[in-house]
Amino acid sequence: MGELLVGKHVKYIITVEKRKGDFESVVMEHLRLNGAYWGLTTLDIMGKLSAVEQDEVISWVMQCQHESGGFGGNIGHDPHVLCALSAIQVLALFDKIHVLDIDKVSNYIAGLQNEDGSFSGDIWGEVDTRFSYIAILSLALLHRLDKVDVGKAVKYILSCKNVDGGFGCTPGAESHAGKIFCCVAALAITGSLHHVDKDLLGWWLCERQVKSGGLNGRPEKLPDVCYSWWVLSSLIMIDRVHWIDKGKLVKFILDCQDKENGGISDRPDDAVDVFHTYFGLAGLSLLEYPGIKPIDPAYALPVDVVNRQKQFPLMKGGLRYQCCNIFIIMALSGRNKPKADPGF
Ligand SMILES: [Zn+2]
Repeated sequence: MGELLVGKHVKYIITVEKRKGDFESVVMEHLRLNGAYWGLTTLDIMGKLSAVEQDEVISWVMQCQHESGGFGGNIGHDPHVLCALSAIQVLALFDKIHVLDIDKVSNYIAGLQNEDGSFSGDIWGEVDTRFSYIAILSLALLHRLDKVDVGKAVKYILSCKNVDGGFGCTPGAESHAGKIFCCVAALAITGSLHHVDKDLLGWWLCERQVKSGGLNGRPEKLPDVCYSWWVLSSLIMIDRVHWIDKGKLVKFILDCQDKENGGISDRPDDAVDVFHTYFGLAGLSLLEYPGIKPIDPAYALPVDVVNRQKQFPLMKGGLRYQCCNIFIIMALSGRNKPKADPGF
């Protein structure tokens, strides 16, 4: 098995950020804020966040904000709830959330909740459980969950639960690992994990591991490094991560590295990109690979960043937040496993 090429991955991420005119940059233009979150979180879990110019990044993030309080994926692009989350996450990485007008951003996000408890992604109204997670996580990081009807939000997510224990994007839609992650994480953040059938869902999730050690997102699909995050974090949150072969998954992720130029691809020998580099590193972090920071499976940020947010002065609902962190630290360290939900 190869080793993690930290130096090369750092170099790759920094080079991608500097390239403005190539294919990947053009494709990513409207998603640049998301790309910044993937790249910067990857650098942070490798302990190299200082390799980027912090003030430059923050100034650019703030230029992506609209009068409505929402954020676009880049300067001049339309606002979307996903971009608001990326902006909050990037600012959290640099401990700069206070530069935001918290009420303005949280009012924008809360305004996207619908009567049935679901969330739209933007003014065009597409509804998806991804947006429920994004809105709940954003408001939790801003300590403004009280601005939405959490009970209704949870009820909507539960209406997307299927007989196989998984979750889809809307009621009746098939189970998919990415949507399962969003629903389970949203339930974890809101203290509602007791609604999950952990054995049934754990069985569906651990069946995602294929012969090569990689994980797929649905039955009969090819393995893909990004599912190292969606599936693994879900398994950790429901305390069933010991049901997969962790060693084989580590090997699969390491086999997806570009050994010459850095970066990680979806599967061995494919072209690398920032998205899969992030999910590969985040997956290794969840697998407790030595030398990289632990990442929080629900908040998708390094555990130390989440803990710092916990001490945010404008914080509300702090006890739940603290319990959630204690649970995550216990789950990551694999000791003193809680017998039931520890009250969050
Ligand atoms: Zn993928």
